[in-house]
Amino acid sequence: MAWHLALVIEPAASDDSRTDFSATFRAVDPSSPVLPLGELSAQRGDGVFESLGVVGSHPQEVDAHLRRLARSAELCDLPAPHAEQWRQAIERVARGCGPGESVIKLILSRGIEHGAGPTAWVTAAPAADFTAARQEGIRIATLDRGYDSGAPLRAPWLLQSAKTLSYAVNMAAIREAKRRGADDALFVTSDGVVLEAPTASLIARIDGVFVTPTPAGGILPGTTQASIFSWLRSEGGSTASREVTAADLGRADAAWLVSSVRLAAPIREIDGVRLPVDLDLTPRLNDYLLSPRD
Ligand code: PLP
Repeated sequence: MAWHLALVIEPAASDDSRTDFSATFRAVDPSSPVLPLGELSAQRGDGVFESLGVVGSHPQEVDAHLRRLARSAELCDLPAPHAEQWRQAIERVARGCGPGESVIKLILSRGIEHGAGPTAWVTAAPAADFTAARQEGIRIATLDRGYDSGAPLRAPWLLQSAKTLSYAVNMAAIREAKRRGADDALFVTSDGVVLEAPTASLIARIDGVFVTPTPAGGILPGTTQASIFSWLRSEGGSTASREVTAADLGRADAAWLVSSVRLAAPIREIDGVRLPVDLDLTPRLNDYLLSPRD
């Protein structure tokens, strides 16, 4: 991969009053070994992360991503990230991006086994080309999440609403969707409640209302979904965050999987059944998502 830049961060305490954190950043060569073998992120996937879209050298929705990083850290009993320190690290790597679209990853790991504390780093790299997904749409396969809709409340240690580094299940779901002839997966609980995709949120238009499954502890609150909902409302659209059943989804006249880097991918097929792509709204959604957003 043609990396732009990587910085290892010495995490600051959340009450650190410095205004300039550059002394806590160490630029590293991202294609060379950097992490010790004892890293718990590598050994156990024990840490949290964020992926931000970058357009030119503008990182999108930095505050929303930093708020979610802090929330994921709290859910995992990790020390609170220092927002200003991370903001400065993001600005520094974003300056090295562009032109075109890039992706910045923020990683906060529990650290080295028996070590002193968390480790953290930020990387920037060119984004993949998602033109076909955005314009032609994607086929999805619904997959049983393996538990019912009460599981997140009964078992909060499943961490379903945190963005942890443990994405092996999410990647396995995408491979299974591909085996079924689709491009991506959509998780549904064993009692028929639609959740999210392995790396994206769902927005469906049902009876003229743009609907997304309510987070309620069971899914990751999507920054792209939230941003799209405020844009839709500013354009006079109606939005709702509520329970969506598989039967509701069958009544949708358009739907999208939305995420920070692929942006809005219209769904053109669900389990082999065709769904129309809204050829007017979809490019407008992606134009909005590609405009500078704070
Ligand atoms: N749900 C999951 C499980 C994800 O991993 C992601 C993003 O990677 C999303 C939803 C979409 O979140 P965002 O729009 O903030 O990228």
